[in-house]
Amino acid sequence: MKTIGILGGMSAASTQIYYRELCDRTRERLGGLHSPELLIRSLDFARIEALQMAGQWEQAGEILNREARALERGGADFIILATNTMHKLAEQMMTGLAIPLLHIADATANRIRTSGLRTPGLMATAFTMEQAFYTERLSATGLTPIIPDASDRATTHRVIYDELCRDVVTRDSEAAYVAIAQRLVDRGADCLILGCTEVGMLLNQGNVPVPVFDTTLIHCDEALSTALNG
Ligand code: GLU
Repeated sequence: MKTIGILGGMSAASTQIYYRELCDRTRERLGGLHSPELLIRSLDFARIEALQMAGQWEQAGEILNREARALERGGADFIILATNTMHKLAEQMMTGLAIPLLHIADATANRIRTSGLRTPGLMATAFTMEQAFYTERLSATGLTPIIPDASDRATTHRVIYDELCRDVVTRDSEAAYVAIAQRLVDRGADCLILGCTEVGMLLNQGNVPVPVFDTTLIHCDEALSTALNG
């Protein structure tokens, strides 16, 4: 089994989901006492969020690069970055490393395309919804992502930072998210990408009327396949 290097803490709420999912899925696949070989480097998200808000992406990228190198030195065979947003810095993060990155958007796009779907709604941070690094990567695979309107994007973003990243889950925000997802479906989305690693705390296949692609769960599944099968 290969060793998975998780660069997380962005936020800690979702990195806990990664760890639990990887453990559960390893037990399901291998049985017995099996558990995944992994390293978790969990950062202080307050430090990262301050750099995001200040637009100091270069500095954030330097931190990610330093930490990714530490995971490599620690014995990771490949890296998963446990946040969609920070994939904006994937190239800078992987500079000088010999081990590969399992990119969250690529894993998700493959899953959607395999399902025969083409027009995913995307709910994520404003950075992920509005900047090219994510939507263009999806478009390059032949998908046509649809993002919420400005007001719905603001709500989606606010709930992520003010609630989900702080491990706060409320019925009001769930209802708001369900309504935003429905508006994306009304505009033609044939599926929904939970494009932030915390969004699965509110949305899932039980409250969304189209197929749901939860980036956290897909990322865990792909990481485990890579760890077990190469
Ligand atoms: N976990 C989030 C994501 O998947 C948001 C937090 C962050 O900005 O990294 O985008």
